[in-house]
Amino acid sequence: MKRKDESLSPVTGSGPAHSLVITEDGLAEGVRYVPSPNHDERPCGTQIELLVIHGISLPPGEFGGPAVIELFTNRLDPAAHPYFATVAGQRVSAHFLIRRDGELIQFVPCSGRAWHAGASDWRGRGRCNDFSIGIELEGSDDAPYEETQYEALAELCRALRGRYPIADIVGHSDIAPGRKTDPGPYFDWARCREICV
Ligand SMILES: [Zn+2]
Repeated sequence: MKRKDESLSPVTGSGPAHSLVITEDGLAEGVRYVPSPNHDERPCGTQIELLVIHGISLPPGEFGGPAVIELFTNRLDPAAHPYFATVAGQRVSAHFLIRRDGELIQFVPCSGRAWHAGASDWRGRGRCNDFSIGIELEGSDDAPYEETQYEALAELCRALRGRYPIADIVGHSDIAPGRKTDPGPYFDWARCREICV
């Protein structure tokens, strides 16, 4: 008999044996949690229906440093790199970051409203932060994402779908066209939809 969840299995099958769980409070169990002050409450009664995929690296194209975490926690030193001066002071966050090695870090409980989408529109609805979860992949518009990142994304999406009535998964560039380009042309949407939807 065909198992119902077969289509949701990671393509490589090399993920951890246990399943990631999102608690009632919206925290991913066993995942590194770095609280970001850059969030507030979702409007009363709002359901979480949308996953928004982002790509980020600081400085752009350089991977592995602490700058993204520092940005999301308002600790980025504007003097440490010329580019940092252009983004330090922005009060932004996302619920999750998936690093190049597949490490998952949470910054905002899913129950809260992270500040990741900005001016945005999904199927005629504005203010996507109200009803979405923001997932940053460490990357850039100029490079493919890592295998481990797709594996971590698949597991995260499965866990989020187990907790919330997710209707769609989109890129930042889909909900803020003309203003945002991430996750960029190298993000494999066919694969994403196969493993996450
Ligand atoms: Zn973005």
